[in-house]
Amino acid sequence: MTSIWPEIEHLLLNVEKPARYIGLERGAIQPPHDPRNVAWLLTYPDAYEVGFPNQGLQILYEIINELSIGEAERAYAPWVDLEKIMREKGIPLFSVDTHRPANEFDVIAFNLSSELVYTNLLNCIDLAGVSLRSVDRGIEEPLVAAGGHCTYNPEPLADFVDFFVLGDGEEVVSEITYVIHEWKSSESASLSRDSLLKELSKIEGVYVPQMYNVRKDQNGFQVLEPKHDDVPKLVEKRTITSLEDWPYPKNQLVPITEVVHDRLNVEVFRGCTRGCRFCQAGMITRPVRERSADQVRTMVSDGLRRTGYDQVALTSLSTADYSHIEKAVAAVGDDPLSCGQTGVSLPSLRVDAFTVGIAATIQGGKRSGLTFAPEAGTWRMRQVINKLITEEDLYGAVESAFSQGWRRVKLYFLIGLPTETDEDTLGIADLAKNCVEIGKRYNKQASVTVSVGGFVPKPFTPFQWFGQNTIEELQRKINLLKDATSRSRGVQLKWHDPKATLVEGVLSRGDRNLSALIEEVWRSGGTFQEWSEHFDIDRWLSSMEELGLSVEDYAYRHRDKSEPLPWDHLDAGLYKDFLWQEWRDALEEVGLEDCRWTPCYDCGACTGYGLDHVVASTSPPVGGSQGTWQDLTKGSEVPQLLTIRKKSETV
Ligand code: SF4
Repeated sequence: MTSIWPEIEHLLLNVEKPARYIGLERGAIQPPHDPRNVAWLLTYPDAYEVGFPNQGLQILYEIINELSIGEAERAYAPWVDLEKIMREKGIPLFSVDTHRPANEFDVIAFNLSSELVYTNLLNCIDLAGVSLRSVDRGIEEPLVAAGGHCTYNPEPLADFVDFFVLGDGEEVVSEITYVIHEWKSSESASLSRDSLLKELSKIEGVYVPQMYNVRKDQNGFQVLEPKHDDVPKLVEKRTITSLEDWPYPKNQLVPITEVVHDRLNVEVFRGCTRGCRFCQAGMITRPVRERSADQVRTMVSDGLRRTGYDQVALTSLSTADYSHIEKAVAAVGDDPLSCGQTGVSLPSLRVDAFTVGIAATIQGGKRSGLTFAPEAGTWRMRQVINKLITEEDLYGAVESAFSQGWRRVKLYFLIGLPTETDEDTLGIADLAKNCVEIGKRYNKQASVTVSVGGFVPKPFTPFQWFGQNTIEELQRKINLLKDATSRSRGVQLKWHDPKATLVEGVLSRGDRNLSALIEEVWRSGGTFQEWSEHFDIDRWLSSMEELGLSVEDYAYRHRDKSEPLPWDHLDAGLYKDFLWQEWRDALEEVGLEDCRWTPCYDCGACTGYGLDHVVASTSPPVGGSQGTWQDLTKGSEVPQLLTIRKKSETV
């Protein structure tokens, strides 16, 4: 493989941000190339500054480069200015580490964290000079792979991707590398791309779309069936049993230009069993696997020394639930290198687990803002979504924050949730107004930013059967909120474009017919659809119309239990009956406790792994000793409406 840096370097004078393409960040690896090795190009299909901090990509980058038979480099989607020049000059997609052309790697692997990057994936394949469709690729062309949360419904991309990986990547990436290595080293005359794909399909957690036939059932719904007896009927996700065994990234990259989330990130646990019914991440990453407090301390300490960061994020889906959260936060402040000046961010804070103790322990750094996600404006609505936090929880958390010196709090809500009424929507404005009033007791400048996003039903959640709100309905709800919050000083309202919400919804639960839609939108110039200045709903709607695809059918229609779903051949570890029961309970406003501190209700996630939750302490994060949901509400009165379903009532 040869570097094409000499061809690229002078072109960077003509682009907005040349630093996106240089590489050479602290921690970056320039692996020596050995043609016998399996070379991976780990690609984030969005701009460098968005993709750079992605922890999943950085973890695999290190693990593959530690293998004696593997080498990994990184690539990001070139921004539109460079892409134009690349196409004019015939320059292919390249790695940022050694600037080698993408089509000289064995695998181009994409991280998919949002549906709106799908057209960028096609653009990157095309820029790499690789055949767009899997069936057209020859034996000399790289394999195209994808991982990340969106692969739990891979069907819209099934025509373009050779294999998808479901679940945790730490173990499976080595298994895939070994299979490809063996295939590359084989001198058998029967060597074919098909034989390799078939071998890959036998690895647990790997889904190879070409190994499945698509047939239509009597109602016209797509059903997938394996083409061969030794290809699994149901592809199970991968789950690492111990996070402690994988203390990655060990050498977190430090950028040379501005990127989002520019800080040291230490993952304190993976998985979440709070059971929020809208949350795909919480459902598909079960069970909970914690890191020990000692390992967190070591990772923080080593990371600060190596990177020089003055900000540490303790990451997870709900960091205040970490059983040693106060110790972990204190570890940052106590580190001799920190001198009390290192800030701590706790992304994804649950208000019912955020205490004055935690607020007080977060010392040093900037106290710019804290984000809480109550998700819904009324207690009724929060029971439907199983986000069982009371108003008192929220006010308590906000008071803890303001009393400890924060001046700004951000509250995140969803609109368009199942059964939502205008009273629920307007409840958001009431909560925000009350939070500002609490803040003003401590600081006259206190402010609250309310951020609302339209709800998109996701695969493998209890809401996967729900028909989402129309663009018009979401816009009407935003208008209600604009009006209601305009009267509250100190409350600022921000919202996600409902048109983008619609496209996310179409792709999130779509079938293989959507491959044509994604290709059509990409061919018409629709890239960087996550960026408001490039997103264009008309491209999507006109393409759908041309292809005879109905928005109503893909996004707005409620599904029935008997309807086959496009991801029925995949297994996220959850029983479908459990999800259906949860959907029925949502409609009846029945809550479900967190199984970390209550008996198992057999959702399916732990079955087959021989594991239970790995929690560093057995008590809930706050409250009393019994570990029930009521403890988590810190003694606040539990509203009468709440009913908790017990295991015996599970279907
Ligand atoms: S199987 Fe039981 S313990 Fe495991 S995540 Fe599901 S409910 Fe919780």
